Amino acid sequence: MTLFSSRVTLPALIKNSMSVPARKKSSSSVRRRRSHNALIATNVSSCAKCKEPIKSHHACSNCGTYKGRATLVVGKSAEQLIKKSATKSKTKTNKEETPKS
Ligand SMILES: [Zn+2]
Repeated sequence: MTLFSSRVTLPALIKNSMSVPARKKSSSSVRRRRSHNALIATNVSSCAKCKEPIKSHHACSNCGTYKGRATLVVGKSAEQLIKKSATKSKTKTNKEETPKS
């Protein structure tokens, strides 16, 4: 078996060991790599309805509109919906439990 054949199997020790970098990264190359890591401020626009600052291409979290159209249920009505769904799920679980026992 020669070293360059395709059927060469390495010993388990060498196979499972981690590779070690050949040399220390120079400060210049590290800085060059990190030159792309800077954070960029997101584009903020104002809501057409309530003038609240919002991310562009996102629905307003204050009033729930997107491009002037109502898309989200926000505020007290949302809380009421959550409460209703919670009570519904409770009643459903009770109904499911009764036939078993
Ligand atoms: Zn809004």
